[in-house]
Amino acid sequence: MQKVADLHVHTHLSDGTFTPEKVVEYAKAKGLSAIAITDHDCCCGITPAILAAEDLGVEIIPGVELTTEVNDTEIHLLGYFIDWQDDWFARKLKEISRVREERAREILSKLRRHGVDISDDELFELSGPGSVGRLHIAQLLFKKGCTSSIGQAFTKYIGNGGSCYVKKFKLTPLEAVDMIRRVGGVSVVAHPKTINIQNKSTEDIVASLVKDGVRGIEVYHSDHSDKNEKDFKALAEKYNLLITGGSDCHGFGKREVLIGKVKIPYELVEKIKNTLK
Ligand code: AMP
Ligand code: FE
Ligand code: FE
Ligand code: ZN
Repeated sequence: MQKVADLHVHTHLSDGTFTPEKVVEYAKAKGLSAIAITDHDCCCGITPAILAAEDLGVEIIPGVELTTEVNDTEIHLLGYFIDWQDDWFARKLKEISRVREERAREILSKLRRHGVDISDDELFELSGPGSVGRLHIAQLLFKKGCTSSIGQAFTKYIGNGGSCYVKKFKLTPLEAVDMIRRVGGVSVVAHPKTINIQNKSTEDIVASLVKDGVRGIEVYHSDHSDKNEKDFKALAEKYNLLITGGSDCHGFGKREVLIGKVKIPYELVEKIKNTLK
C-alpha cells in the first residue's frame, strides 16, 4: 500500500482541540504513515507526539506555522524539519506567544465594549499552556451562544477588519524564513488560496516569497478546490518548488475533524528530506 502523509496538523498547544497523543491516535486510525505537527508559533506538541507515535509506526515531522505579513495581509509560512529543541528558537516563539496573549486580552476588552463578557481567565483556561489565538475566542463566543457558529464569530466580531479585530505581531516573510532556516528547516507557503493582496496576483506573491527563500508551496489543503490544486501545482513547477499538502486539522475547532482529509504521497516528504542533505 502506498504510504501517505498529512503535513498540516494543529494540537491543543495552539488552537487545535486534540492533545498530541490524540492527534497521533487519529493519524494511525486514518492510515497515515507520517504527519507534521504545525502549531502556530509553538513547538511544544512535537516531543509528546513523537513519544506517543513511537510504537505505532507513525512518523512525526517537526514543524511550525508562523504568521507573516505583507501589505496588511497575512501570509502563513510552514517550517518543516526544524530543530524544535533549539533554545534560541524556543525563546523567539515564547516572545511571539507573549505578544499573542496581550493581543488576546485586547480583543476581550473590545468584546466587552460590545457587550460580550468573556473573562481573561476563561480564555487562558481553554487555550492552556501553548499559544492563544482567535479560534479559542471564537469557540467561547459560540459556546456562550453569542454567535450561531465558530465561523460567525469571525464574520461578526473578530475576523480581519471586524469590530473587535486586533492586529497580531507579525514577522516579514524574510524574517520567518531566516528563523526557520536558522534551525535547519525548510519554509513552505501555507494555504495560498487565502492570500489576497490588492493589485498582486498569486504568482507575484509566490515569486516574491521565493526571493525571500521560501522553498515550497502547500498545493493540497482542505480548502483548496481542484482548480486551486491545478493552479498551485503549475506555480510549483514554474518556480521549482516543493509540493506539500495537509488538512490543517484543528480537531473540533473547525466544522469537522480534518486530519487525513488531505493525504499526499510519501514521496513528496522524501523530496523535502532530500533538500536537507
Ligand atoms: P490567529 O492566529 O489568532 O490570528 O487566528 C487564526 C486562526 O483562526 C487560524 O487557525 C484560522 O484557521 C482561524 N480562522 C481565521 N478565520 C476564520 C474563519 N472565518 N472561520 C474559522 N476559523 C478562522
Ligand atoms: Fe489555527
Ligand atoms: Fe494557517
Ligand atoms: Zn494551520
